[in-house]
Amino acid sequence: MSLADRETITRQIRDATDIVDLVGSSVSLRRSGSAFKGLCPFHEEKTPSFIVNPARQIFKCFGCGVGGDVFKFVQLRENVDFLEARRMLAERAGIDLEAQPRSGVAGLAKTDLARACAWARQIFRKNYLGPSGQAARDYVANRGISAEMAEAFALGLAVDSYDSLIRQADLAKIDHKLLLAAGLVKESQRGGYYDTFRNRLMFPIVDAGGRVVGFGGRTLGEDPAKYLNTPATALFDKGTNLFGLDRARQAIGEAGRAIVVEGYTDCIMAHQHGFCETVATLGTAMTEAHARLLRRFTDRVILLFDSDEAGQRAADRALAVTVTVGLDVSLARVPEGKDPCDYLLSAGQAAFRGVLNQAVGALEFKWREVSRKYGVGATGPARRRAVEEYLQQLSAWLGQGAIDPIQTGLLINQLSQIISLPAEDLLQQVRRMSQRTRPLTGRSGTAGRPQAEAPPAGKGSNSQQEALRQIVEVLLNEPAYYAHVASWLKPEHVWDPALSAIVAEMVAILNSGQQLQVADLIGRFESPEFGGLITDLQDRGERRGQFATVIEGAIACLESFEQSRHAAVLAEDIRRSRQQAGDRQVPENEDERLRALTDAARQSHFSPVRARKRLLDLP
Ligand SMILES: [Zn+2]
Repeated sequence: MSLADRETITRQIRDATDIVDLVGSSVSLRRSGSAFKGLCPFHEEKTPSFIVNPARQIFKCFGCGVGGDVFKFVQLRENVDFLEARRMLAERAGIDLEAQPRSGVAGLAKTDLARACAWARQIFRKNYLGPSGQAARDYVANRGISAEMAEAFALGLAVDSYDSLIRQADLAKIDHKLLLAAGLVKESQRGGYYDTFRNRLMFPIVDAGGRVVGFGGRTLGEDPAKYLNTPATALFDKGTNLFGLDRARQAIGEAGRAIVVEGYTDCIMAHQHGFCETVATLGTAMTEAHARLLRRFTDRVILLFDSDEAGQRAADRALAVTVTVGLDVSLARVPEGKDPCDYLLSAGQAAFRGVLNQAVGALEFKWREVSRKYGVGATGPARRRAVEEYLQQLSAWLGQGAIDPIQTGLLINQLSQIISLPAEDLLQQVRRMSQRTRPLTGRSGTAGRPQAEAPPAGKGSNSQQEALRQIVEVLLNEPAYYAHVASWLKPEHVWDPALSAIVAEMVAILNSGQQLQVADLIGRFESPEFGGLITDLQDRGERRGQFATVIEGAIACLESFEQSRHAAVLAEDIRRSRQQAGDRQVPENEDERLRALTDAARQSHFSPVRARKRLLDLP
């Protein structure tokens, strides 16, 4: 296996493993803001200082300093080396490390099912492009989907036959039982098998790690079941998968949000119009599992729906998700009762962007709905009843999940703005109501809030080294600043050997045009020590915030350092020529050199007079 293959598989393992699930299976975790918190498994403690960050897929203990990605967690927890940790996580995720086909069908691994699905995708694609695919291609063209998109999403065709796929499988010597396990065929009454999908346009469903896990099929005939999904298999469940995520994940990271639609064609059409951060639920409402999956890539989601009724359902779901999973969900309605696909085709990209810009936070959306129902004016009994009903619902949501005080505080503050009531009053009402469902509060104030630690004092002895360190800290949080600092960030300028190695890897990733992700970077080092170092740097940057200011300050410091070094060289030059000329004479060109020194000193933020004094030992 080549090195590139090995890296690909390592990435697949990372993508297939959710750090909250992984850590959560041995450490009891509670949501705390956008992260999770628990007692550190690596040192004795009574109050939790162990944080798991789902968006970055890293963990960090603020008590003992350990930190890292999923691999580092297993390395430390099981006391194994990187390769062993990788093997264990691969097994957990059902990824076959050697990718060697197994004989027989006993003990079918998820990898085998994924391989069967990938094979079927190929067959469907061939059908689509062949002579039998005319009707399917016509349907796709009629919906306005471009040939590029059809290819990008690998649209296919299941032909109108009960045994087409089965006959292809026989030719390829693929066991029918494997097809059955992958949901591609069904068992007939008489004991044989028949194709699950017949006369359907096929939409392959690919998970975030790039595995084909199932299909959605739209009938090309009169079948009353317009859409049919792969039945639940060991690999596929429609409530936990999102169509298009494999193609959208990078764009989601870049856009800082995900757009969620309900239909395959809606999703494809959004991509066709440049909204590549779009994914589709598989014809279902959004589930908590969907939310958790998305949370790995972003914490902002816009849900698109096309009718009032769908909007209400979506709003209720979104509220539950906002409250329990901690995603920031907004809702946007496509006008004219159209689905997003048709709307994009008729109204175009700019109008669609307008719809997205009008998205309303789930809490506010729900309030608008309730107040419409009661015909709420600015004051009066109708308004009181509406507030009552709204809070009732909200406290029920709050009672369902274990919401920490910070999260509750945030929600109450938002609410207070939306319905213009003081936060204190709201909190009291919600507390009263939720005591009837389940105790929500009883925690006082901010006692449980982790105190923001002051960033540890830098070495102080060298501002240049500190500036370089701060640049690294910012880039781990906001890699986009790399363009500004690329010329300053050189591993050979960093004295600390570990930091220098980290800079070297960062620069390699960023220069290759890849995205810099903390977990990815950690994965490049086999020693768990780097997990702690890198998560420390990331955390310090995040706590300090103000990325633009920090970068500006660091560049100024490095520039100044550069200029003062330049000034020192000039000064040395002047001193030498004075010595050569003897005390009596003014050396040649001294004026010119002094001017250059003054310039350099000015740019180095020293006063020119002081610099001249200091550098030339003048009185
Ligand atoms: Zn610890």
